[in-house]
Amino acid sequence: MISLKQIVIEQKYSKKEKQCPASTQDLFLNTANRDRAIQTKHIKYGPLNVEEPGDYWKNIAKKWDTTEKAARKSKCIKCTAFDVSPRMLKCIPGKTSQPVEDEHGILGYCWMHLFKCHSARSCNTWAAGGPITENEDSYEWQKRNLKAALDPEPIDPEFSRKEKKDNE
Ligand code: SF4
Repeated sequence: MISLKQIVIEQKYSKKEKQCPASTQDLFLNTANRDRAIQTKHIKYGPLNVEEPGDYWKNIAKKWDTTEKAARKSKCIKCTAFDVSPRMLKCIPGKTSQPVEDEHGILGYCWMHLFKCHSARSCNTWAAGGPITENEDSYEWQKRNLKAALDPEPIDPEFSRKEKKDNE
């Protein structure tokens, strides 16, 4: 049953502020933003294979000037931009090729780079304070990032065009 508090929260935000972010509904858009996050030097989302991370954690520890052990504790699941609120988890299954949950963790939405990221990964722009677990907090992020969240175009269209050309 929906509580009074939940009803008040739902009424507080506009339809657009509650709409699913574009990349949760569009696989191509999600892939474009994800690939940008993987390949862009200041982001470097990874590791690609969580079971065989290679030097990923070593490199990220070096960048953060910390130990590998500490870096391994700074994953998406603890990032301030990682959204696994109930309303976002309803958006995420959308049209996806990945399971929402696996043995390593769960998919959430990244408010910094606008794609579905995995709780067991990380990136150079990780920031403490997450995850986002309440609908109200999720709507607030969307309110502050409304244009970007609903934008049907990739964050970096030029990067996506180049990537598409390279794959042809
Ligand atoms: S910004 Fe945070 S949630 Fe987004 S990919 Fe980086 S670590 Fe993950």
